[in-house]
Amino acid sequence: MTVHQNFIAGNWSQTDAVVENINPSDTRDIVGHYASADRAAVESAIEAAHTAFPAWARVSPEVRADILDRVGTEILARRDELGALLSREEGKILSEGVAEAARAGRVFKFFAGEALRLNGERITSVRPGVEVEVLREPEGVIGIITPWNFPLAIPAWKIAPALAYGNTVVFKPAELVPGSGWALAEILSRAGLPEGVFNLVIGPGSKVGQAMVESPKVRGISFTGSVPTGRRIGVACFEMGKKVQLELGGKNPLIVLADADLEVAANAIINGAFFSTGQRCTASSRIIVESGIHDRLIERLVDGLARLRVGHALKPDSHIGPVVNAAQLEQDLSYIKLGREEGGRLVFGGERLQREEPGHYLSPALFTGTDNSMRINREEIFGPVASVIRVESYEEAVAVANDTEFGLSSGICTTSLKFASDFKHRSAAGMVMVNLPTAGVDYHVPFGGRKGSSYGPREQGAYAREFYSVVKTAYTQP
Ligand code: NAD
Repeated sequence: MTVHQNFIAGNWSQTDAVVENINPSDTRDIVGHYASADRAAVESAIEAAHTAFPAWARVSPEVRADILDRVGTEILARRDELGALLSREEGKILSEGVAEAARAGRVFKFFAGEALRLNGERITSVRPGVEVEVLREPEGVIGIITPWNFPLAIPAWKIAPALAYGNTVVFKPAELVPGSGWALAEILSRAGLPEGVFNLVIGPGSKVGQAMVESPKVRGISFTGSVPTGRRIGVACFEMGKKVQLELGGKNPLIVLADADLEVAANAIINGAFFSTGQRCTASSRIIVESGIHDRLIERLVDGLARLRVGHALKPDSHIGPVVNAAQLEQDLSYIKLGREEGGRLVFGGERLQREEPGHYLSPALFTGTDNSMRINREEIFGPVASVIRVESYEEAVAVANDTEFGLSSGICTTSLKFASDFKHRSAAGMVMVNLPTAGVDYHVPFGGRKGSSYGPREQGAYAREFYSVVKTAYTQP
């Protein structure tokens, strides 16, 4: 049996504890066996990163740029193979897996360039003869903790800027999908990084993640995952005086005004709510529809959903893959039951499906006749479940859209420039889309939310430097 080991201090360490990585499209298929780190292994990884930091912080940015560029080039060249591994372990369909792998490659290439662009400022002092400079420096050891739903892209958009700006890294992928994170670590292990600059520790959050959060040698934690875990980590980091960045859940509204192009709106909803099995923090889960288009839109959506095939992620005719595991499927089904009990009308799907292979299959579920106070409209379900909330005006639509504890992404479908422009300003979300799904973003611009969805500086694009570097103000009397 081949065990995919942890990567600590430049070596593939030997571990006895092993976890099975199971394919959600076919639970008979074991994707691989992965080592599970214990506390001592995590501490070794942190120590290695701590030791490697001073030299890496001073290395020429050209060296960092070349390494990140090599990593990006290899990921792009192997996008089909890496995408297939990702789809096999996570369950998004192959085209989505390959696109995510390509995105991860692009992210490394983007930050290769950014490594060369890290600059400071020189400001005229109020004291004549004194020079003031604002310098940017790396933080130190960064702990990176990621969720299962984007097992390559999210690690890439955290690891690449951390390394680009001169930090060292201890990376813990989600234990449900260790394969993509391991493959990324394997590429990084051959890219020319000095020993200890990048470390991989696979294992449960309560043990491995917790040890990273609790270590005084880890200067910052970048976390993406659920609200309860994120909040606990945030409090622990605050108590230890640690920098923290949290990307959490969403309950993203997509407004459809009566003047919308029906086809554009239906496509945005089907893509935003149900693609990637609805397992995206930016999924369009609350569809807020003006009365004038309501019935036509529902008819069009039901028709569109009936054409989608739910099946094995690696089969070319599948449009939607399985739910990630049995526990998530149970959560989705219990919310579907709750939606009915709350008075929602299930107009499509919401049923467990049997396929040739034993997997966690669920038909995409669409509720109508819901209101924004129902739990299915307030709590993140994280599955292929969306509900329609009918409204009478644009003003009501905006009020409903913003009435949520989350604020990650939002959208509006309209042919009116006036409403589109107004909504861009009034939406209380970190990302706003016009005539587009709430999910699906570029890799070179900031990503993040407001309110309960995010905490700390933005991820991605040049804005990532706010988390992965720290400012120092230097005064000189020449
Ligand atoms: P999760 O919170 O269960 O786990 C996330 C990571 O935290 C995993 O690696 C896990 O092992 C680790 N972890 C768990 N307990 C820990 C602890 N006590 N200390 C340290 N680490 C710990 O989330 P998940 O189920 O993997 O992911 C789904 C969630 O992620 C959803 O809520 C989704 O909205 C969110 N998400 C957010 C974004 C975003 O950018 N806002 C993107 C993707 C996913």
